Amino acid sequence: MPLRALCLALVAPAWAVRVGQAALPHAARVPASALLMQARPLEGKVAVITGSSSGIGLAIAETLAGAGCDLVVHGSRDPSIMGELEHDLSSQNDVKCKYVQADVSDMEQVTALIDTAVATFGKVDILVNNAGIQHVSPLADFPEEAYDRVMNINLKATFMLTKFCLPGMQERGYGRIINIASVHGKVASVNKAAYVASKHAVVGLTKVTALEMAGTGVTAVTVCPGWVLTPLVQKQIDTRAAASGRTIAEETKALVSEKMPSGEAVRTKDFGKMVEFLCSEAAAQITGTEIVLDGGWTAQ
Ligand code: NAD
Repeated sequence: MPLRALCLALVAPAWAVRVGQAALPHAARVPASALLMQARPLEGKVAVITGSSSGIGLAIAETLAGAGCDLVVHGSRDPSIMGELEHDLSSQNDVKCKYVQADVSDMEQVTALIDTAVATFGKVDILVNNAGIQHVSPLADFPEEAYDRVMNINLKATFMLTKFCLPGMQERGYGRIINIASVHGKVASVNKAAYVASKHAVVGLTKVTALEMAGTGVTAVTVCPGWVLTPLVQKQIDTRAAASGRTIAEETKALVSEKMPSGEAVRTKDFGKMVEFLCSEAAAQITGTEIVLDGGWTAQ
């Protein structure tokens, strides 16, 4: 048993009675084993989170590690600069964590990513397809290479990784495919032809995955974010600020308010909690659908 779990097992009964439970009638007290499960509900599970070296993916990795899940953290950056992240995630959460570098526009590297995950941890229970890129251009000028790159990273890698993970998940009777798409999987915006097409396709791919896996314990869900202030969006804010002459802060506020009635960007940590919930037993029947975190963007 990992050290942190062991410590919790030793202290939980006394702690549970001291903190709050003493006031409860005996029948309402929570058994220590249940408290342990609440503390580390994903203990024993293995997750692969693509694009988890920054932004939304990193926040998901941090939350799943906190829930006791072993992790493959992935990105395009050199492993020599990712050792610290690997070390921090594993030591702070008493889980195993491996960073894998793979360019997911290259399907050989996509295959190698899953091979490494299975060779390291023996299985993949949770696949979060999060790596994604954007290219902004009017359709008439949209470069073909940019279109292919967006489609390969946002859609084809999601298809391939899902395909590789499903048989093992089905065999074990538990699996979660969580595809981070976008509000642009539901509605469109100008100048984002490849991105909008790829994210709409991810919504469709998730539905097919859910139908094919129905009743097996494997679910597939699309998560659709509105604006989240990550490096992917920062590039768009910088371009807009350069064109408008506004400050970065003014441009950020304008960008978010144009689309989101809440006037507030979604926080990266909110995706971690949402994904943790989707991995739980309570979410076993949430499949083939979209969870939208967009401050009201798509309600309009
Ligand atoms: P980000 O740029 O911070 O993170 C993207 C991640 O994908 C990085 O870890 C990067 O290394 C990885 N990645 C990109 N291309 C890759 C490649 N070829 N090979 C390997 N890794 C690659 O962006 P983010 O905002 O955190 O985006 C995460 C996901 O959320 C994306 O799919 C994005 O489309 C989606 N999304 C973001 C927003 C937003 O406002 N930030 C809104 C809707 C959807």
